[in-house]
Amino acid sequence: MNTSSAIGVFGGTFDPIHIGHLRLACAFRDELGLHEVRLIPTGEPPHRQRPYLPATVRLALVQAAVRDHTGLVADEREVRRHGYCYTVDTLREIRQQIGPTRPLYLLIGGDSLLHLHTWREWQQLFALAHLVVATRPGFAMADLAPEVQHFWQTRQADDFAKQSAAGTIRTLSLAPLDVSATQIRAKLQANEDVSALLPPAVREPLMTYLHCKKTQ
Ligand code: ATP
Repeated sequence: MNTSSAIGVFGGTFDPIHIGHLRLACAFRDELGLHEVRLIPTGEPPHRQRPYLPATVRLALVQAAVRDHTGLVADEREVRRHGYCYTVDTLREIRQQIGPTRPLYLLIGGDSLLHLHTWREWQQLFALAHLVVATRPGFAMADLAPEVQHFWQTRQADDFAKQSAAGTIRTLSLAPLDVSATQIRAKLQANEDVSALLPPAVREPLMTYLHCKKTQ
C-alpha cells in the first residue's frame, strides 16, 4: 500500500489525452511514490489557440482514461472555472486545500519548460510545489531560458527522502515517447487510424463524439 501523502499535479490541454500522457502520469506516480496524481485539463488555455475538442469532452476523455488506474484522478477545476486559468492559481488553490506541509509535485513536459519563464508568476510555482520535468525527444537543457536554467541548477533535488513541501526540480527517468496530441489531431483530420495512440478506454467515446459531430 502507498502510505505517502504527496500529491502530483499534471495539467495539460489533453486534446485528446493519449498513451504518452497516461504512461507519464503512471511513471510520475510510481517514481515519486505519490498518493495521488491529479490530471487537470485546461478550460481556456492562456498559451494556445482554441482546442480541437471542447473542454467538457476533453475532461470526459481524461475521466475515462484514468478510471482503471489506481491513484490517478481527473480534476475538473479548470474546466469548471470561467475565464483563463493559470497554473499558479490552480496550485495556490490546491495548496490551500492540502495545507502547507504536504509535498506537492507539478509535472511538466520539457517542451513546456521552454516557455516556463513566460508563465504568470512562474517563480512562485517553486514556493507552491516541486517541479518534475518529463523530457521529450529533442529536449536540450541549452534551449531553456537562462533564468530557467539558473533555477534548474540551483534547485536540483538530491534527496527526496526529506519530503519537503515544495521548491526543488528534478527529471523523470522515463524514456520519452514520441507521441503528441498534435499528431493525433492531424491523423484524425486525414481519416487515419489513431487507436494505437489512445488509451483503450478513450477510443470509443472519442470516436462516438467525432461521429456525432460530423453527422450534426
Ligand atoms: P499538443 O501536441 O496539442 O501540444 P501534447 O501531446 O503536448 O499536445 P498537452 O496536453 O499539451 O499534450 O500536454 C500536457 C503536458 O504533457 C505538457 O507538459 C507536455 O509537454 C507533456 N507531454 C505530452 N506528451 C508527452 C510525451 N509524449 N512525452 C513527454 N511529455 C509529454
